Formats: sequence, C-alpha cells, structure tokens
Amino acid sequence: MNSKAYFGKFGGQFVPETVMFALDELENAYESIAKTKEFKDELDDLLKNYVGRPSPLFFAKRLSEHYGHEIYLKREDLNHTGAHKINNALAQALLAKKMGKKKILAETGAGQHGVATATAAALLGLECDVYMGATDVARQQLNAFRMQLLGAKVVSVEDGLKTLKEATTAAIQAWVNEIESAFYVIGSAVGPHPYPKIVRDFQSVIGTEAKAQLENYGKKADYVIACVGGGSNAIGIFSAFLDDESVNLVGIEAGGLGIETPYHAATLSKGKTGIIHGMKTTVLQDEYGMISPVHSISAGLDYPGIGPEHAHLNDIKRVRYEAVTDDECINALYFLSKMEGIIPAIESAHAVAYLEKLCPKLDKKSVIVVNISGRGDKDINTVIGYEKGKIYG
Ligand SMILES: *Cc1c(COP(=O)(O)O)cnc(C)c1O
Repeated sequence: MNSKAYFGKFGGQFVPETVMFALDELENAYESIAKTKEFKDELDDLLKNYVGRPSPLFFAKRLSEHYGHEIYLKREDLNHTGAHKINNALAQALLAKKMGKKKILAETGAGQHGVATATAAALLGLECDVYMGATDVARQQLNAFRMQLLGAKVVSVEDGLKTLKEATTAAIQAWVNEIESAFYVIGSAVGPHPYPKIVRDFQSVIGTEAKAQLENYGKKADYVIACVGGGSNAIGIFSAFLDDESVNLVGIEAGGLGIETPYHAATLSKGKTGIIHGMKTTVLQDEYGMISPVHSISAGLDYPGIGPEHAHLNDIKRVRYEAVTDDECINALYFLSKMEGIIPAIESAHAVAYLEKLCPKLDKKSVIVVNISGRGDKDINTVIGYEKGKIYG
C-alpha cells in the first residue's frame, strides 16, 4: 500500500478493485491537471467572481468585548450557496470537466453538498445525480427541490436508516456502475485516498486567506476553532496553521444530547479505529464493530466517521477535539445572531459555542479565529422544532 495514502495510521484505500482503477485515474488527473497554472487560474477566477472570494475575516467587536479576547470570524457563510462546501464542489467539478467526464455523482445528507454540487454542475454544463436518503429527502424538501431546479436528478435511497451513510454507500455503488464516464464528487475530507487530500487542498483557501487577513490586521492567531463533521471546513482552515505549533487548533464535534449518552456524533471523543467509506479512521461503533447510529441537531455533523487526517492530528495531539451539546449550540446560535447580526449555520454554531468554554480559561488576552462555515437560513425550521421540544424529525 502506498504510504502517500496515509496520515500516520489512518487513511488508505479500502475499496473493491473496480474502484481502485478510478482512484488511480483521479490521482493522476489531480497531479497532472489540478496543479497546472491554467487550472489554478481558472479556479481562482471562479472562486473570485462566482463564489465571491476572498470571504471576509470580520473582527467581532461586541463578541470580543463580551469575552475579553479578540475574536475574528471567517465568513464562509457569505459564499455563493451559503457555506464552504462550494469551494470543494466547484473545484472537483472543474477537474471532472477537464478529465472529459460528462456526469458527476454526489451524496448528500441535509442537501448542502448536493446543492453545491448541483450548482457547480449547472455552471459547468455537466449532468448531475445526487444520492440522498429518503428520510432526508422528506426532511429537507427545500434542498431536494433546489437541486432539481438546478437541473440535477435527486435519487432517493431507501436502504437502512435512509440517511447520509446509506446515501454515500449508494453513490459509491452508482460510481462503480459508471466508473468510466462518471466522476464522484465527495463532500468532505473523507473517503479513500486521494479524496481526503484533494478536499483538504481545495478547502485550504480558507486558511490561506484567514492567515493573510490576520496579518493585515497586524495579528497572529493564538486559537483557531472550527466545527468537525467529516472535517473539510476544519482541515481547510487548520492547514495554514499546522506548521506553527504556537497556534492552538480546536475541532468541535457534535455532542448531541451529551457524549455520556448514546445520542451524539462525537467520533474522536468516543470512537475507535475502524473502516468506513473506503478509509481507515476513527469510527463510532459498538463492541461488535457495527457502525453506531449518530445523533446531532446539526445534519451536517451527523456522521459516524471522520476524515483520516483529523484522526491522525488527534493521535499526535496537534489538534484538540472537543464536543458541545445541542443545547450549547443553539444558545450560541442565538447569541451570535443578537451580538453581531450573523445567524450561523447550526454546524458553525458548535464552533461558536466553544468560546463559552475556552475564553474563561485563558490566562492572557488571546486572538481567536472562529470559522463560520455557513449561514443559518437553512436551519430556521430546526430551531423552531427545537423550541417546540422536537429536535429529530
Ligand atoms: C456540511 C457542513 C459542515 C460539516 O462538514 P465538514 O466537512 O466537517 O466541514 C459544516 N458546516 C456547514 C455549514 C456545512 O454545510
């Protein structure tokens, strides 16, 4: 097995032979196409004029006064389609087009990655099938409709719990069936090599910008905080700071109803090494190695695995991973909305919630960057449901 495929003990390619062929093709295309100046110039132009990059790094004055530290917000919520996911979906779709593929496939949970991929497909004139669990299609009708409006086909998956895990398995199966002509656009820094590396590279624009923007303020980060589902927004912002050990990096997982209950998605807090979706990583599983059902108020963090690079960064203790509960997250969502006029995605609100735990413990005035991975408009119904005492449903 090729050592490039691993981050320490984690990663690899745990896939059938038919998929190996496509992964090799992808790796070659990534090296020979995506690293050329021509590709980078074209992607940069789209990121600037279509996505709206660079996203601002906003000094949150009222939040800073409240917590007694300097807090900066990286505004990925201001991207076209409302989150960081478009950075990666657009870049992968552009690579697919340059490879001569006519069709792209994607999985989606709540629909955010599906919408980003359908958007990129429309822009680039590619056919697009999005696999979505039937439960999620019902729960997220607006996003399912949005994808159809963008010209994508939404394939409803009826297996198992009918959510993201099953949708991912179905998308990989569909890819196997159309391996020559289709390109699989993965939505987070997960899956078999080279996906975790490609997604990290395409999301690293977040960290590169944030670091330069802080320098423009004449500042250097003491802490960088991001929420972690599969881990793409977090690795995207962390990547620029990994080499500098003086920067503390914190990934926030979904603690659901509490990590002492079975109702959470805190993979690194409670998981063990296992295999999921073609990678060796930390997985929430029972004593027999069966993947556990996960719970979070946030659909985007509701995943029983995590990208292999995060499993490694946890192993070597370069990044600290913590969990916040649904209640803490909703409080943070209200607080940021009222203090700064920014309604964060429920996913991003997990990162904001950690300020409440971190700030009182710091012994010197610190510079803290929080990645606001997306906007909260999509989550208003969930917040209403939460207020009615009905979170999952
Ligand atoms: C999907 C999503 C996430 C979680 O995915 P990562 O790959 O862990 O970044 C976080 N925030 C928002 C807004 C999302 O849509």
